Amino acid sequence: MIRAILILTFSALAIQVLVAKEVNNPVRVFLWFDTEDYILPESDEALLRIARFLTEEDVRATFKIVGEKARVLEQRDRRDVLGALDHHDIGYHTDFHSVQPTPAMYLSPLGWEEGVEEFSRREYQGMLDLERITGQHPSCYGQPGSSWGPQQYGALQNWGIPVYLDAGEHIDLNGEPLWYGRTLTLFSLKHTIRTELGGEADLSQAKADFESAYRDLQAQGGGIISIYYHPCEFVHEEFWDGTNFVDGANPPREEWKLPPMKDANAIETAYSTFEAYVRYIKTFPGVRFTTAREAPDLYPDTARELRIGATDILELARKISSGNLIFQEIEGKTLSLSEVFYLLVSAAERLIEQRPVDLSLDIETPWGPFNPPPRPITVSTDLSQFRRTLADVLDHLRSEQRVPDAVWVGSQAVSPDSFLVATAQFVVDQLEGKTSPQMISISPKTADFSSYIRNDDGLWGWVIFPKGFNAPEMMELARRQGWTLKPAVPTWKEPR
Ligand SMILES: [Zn+2]
Repeated sequence: MIRAILILTFSALAIQVLVAKEVNNPVRVFLWFDTEDYILPESDEALLRIARFLTEEDVRATFKIVGEKARVLEQRDRRDVLGALDHHDIGYHTDFHSVQPTPAMYLSPLGWEEGVEEFSRREYQGMLDLERITGQHPSCYGQPGSSWGPQQYGALQNWGIPVYLDAGEHIDLNGEPLWYGRTLTLFSLKHTIRTELGGEADLSQAKADFESAYRDLQAQGGGIISIYYHPCEFVHEEFWDGTNFVDGANPPREEWKLPPMKDANAIETAYSTFEAYVRYIKTFPGVRFTTAREAPDLYPDTARELRIGATDILELARKISSGNLIFQEIEGKTLSLSEVFYLLVSAAERLIEQRPVDLSLDIETPWGPFNPPPRPITVSTDLSQFRRTLADVLDHLRSEQRVPDAVWVGSQAVSPDSFLVATAQFVVDQLEGKTSPQMISISPKTADFSSYIRNDDGLWGWVIFPKGFNAPEMMELARRQGWTLKPAVPTWKEPR
């Protein structure tokens, strides 16, 4: 009898294990195409064929299109191509892509505000043309090559483009989706798959890469895979811009050369490789092809739903005062350091006024400082000045929507990092019931975003850059916007 029960129990366990194995965690596949070759007319055919094939397969992809490419499609009267794109999602990929200078170059000597303006001056018209020609406001943007710059994010905000979609190394949060510069950023994703289109060997590699990513994500409750191509690479032997703009070259339009093409067999092989790959991906349970336009609903920023009371503020303040100057999390919702700054300064002001700490994030994510901090000094100040400085900082956060470059404690300027840590310590002391201090000491502290935002080394290997191009000051500016960085939390990853 006992034995029979044991057998029954083991059988039930075995069934449970089987059932558990059949649960397929959701995997979102972002399939995107940088659609940029406006020189080789055959690249229009490739775009048409890919868009139509995907429609037949009931797959929606994101086509990030160059402004000049959209205008060329209009000039060539390719209503068939534009019609085929209607089924898909449209993103933006600069106005001219590789004509010199490209974004990282012209942004590299500029500060934040000048950079935002310059990017808009050069790129906004292309976005408007793309919108007019395709009938879609772009869902996303991504840079040409590795020509990335932080000021792009300021312009995207102004243009109402909510997603950054590309592959690159400039910012990285453990290979996961992130918020940076108020923009949902799908960039240095761990599972970014890039394979060639040369037939069986490439297809096998692509399948193996996909399966490995899929298995990894199954073990994590689901996740995303980013796969990208360029329509032109289905028909050319060499990229259109490599033929014309390599190493900083910038010939006039009348001297642009057509890139060499593949022969007819190689072109067919490219299509069949890709088509087999897409059909293979579709066989995996739990896989959904997803466009950039759907991404904001998958990764909503829910921080503004938080009601933040004294317990949460004390926890935040303890982490910050102990030197953990980075994004934080409350109840599964993430807060950038600039958001934490706003909350702690607000809490300190309330504690001085003996009002209850009952806060919400009622402003947009403040930008990071635009300029380098003042030189490090230690300042000691009384409660009256501290209170007036808190009010000044809050006013700056609300009216300028950014963390100030310098916090003025009377006639002395300290970095916002230093002021944040001193404020956090003040909040901890108040909430732990210590008597208000006579003097408040502010000593030099620096938030370090170097684990997430690269320095200049090795970022500029794109063949279109002139040899020796670098942008160390721009990457410093990028790091100052580390104040806006935080993980993007998926709403859909629970096992179903
Ligand atoms: Zn491109």
